[in-house]
Amino acid sequence: MSDKSTMTEEREGSDQPDLLYLLRGAEDFSRFVFPDSEALFKSLAHRQTPHTLFITCADSRVSPEMITQTRPGELFVCRNIGNIVPAYGEMLGGVSAVVEFAVLALNVRQIVICGHSDCGAMKGLASGATIADEMPTVHAWLRNAEAARSVVMARKLEEARVVQAMVEENIRLQLTHLRTHPAVAGRLALKQLQVQGWVYDIGQGEVSIFDEGGGGFESIPEARERLLRQGAA
Ligand SMILES: [Zn+2]
Repeated sequence: MSDKSTMTEEREGSDQPDLLYLLRGAEDFSRFVFPDSEALFKSLAHRQTPHTLFITCADSRVSPEMITQTRPGELFVCRNIGNIVPAYGEMLGGVSAVVEFAVLALNVRQIVICGHSDCGAMKGLASGATIADEMPTVHAWLRNAEAARSVVMARKLEEARVVQAMVEENIRLQLTHLRTHPAVAGRLALKQLQVQGWVYDIGQGEVSIFDEGGGGFESIPEARERLLRQGAA
């Protein structure tokens, strides 16, 4: 087997990552990473059976497989600016198709909507800065989170708390939107699907979980206890 340290040294030499940097990465993957998990990749060559649809922000700092410690084939991932799920019928596009396909064709058993700290989309919304002229498409897209902004602004929070409150309120809102999708509503009614909202804290490396019953966010141990209690009930 080749020396993996070569891989790191070569890539660290790139101070300005360019296309060649990415090609080296892809090459390193084929040479060093793939052989270690060859059996897994071979088993995935012609079919996928992901257990979870993971909807999160396009932000480069959010790495779904890393923060959930899952392997290829486990997560069906949908990413967009602000981890938004338009309500059914309002904007039938990529996200709606992903939700429908994941639920009806792949039979995922969980859907997680994961927001994150320092989210640029939520900062933009919270600031109220008008981006309609510069980025009309982003502006139109973020209208799907407008209700979250209204709720947070009505609370008259101190400025330092507004963005995090927006991140959390947006999770509540997008979970509500998610439930308007017929495929989701149907599987929820049959108890064949669970949905959950997360917020990932980039600087702390921690995930907090939305407790829909209590209305707040809780730590993983608290969420685990609640889920076990619900399962036992
Ligand atoms: Zn974001």
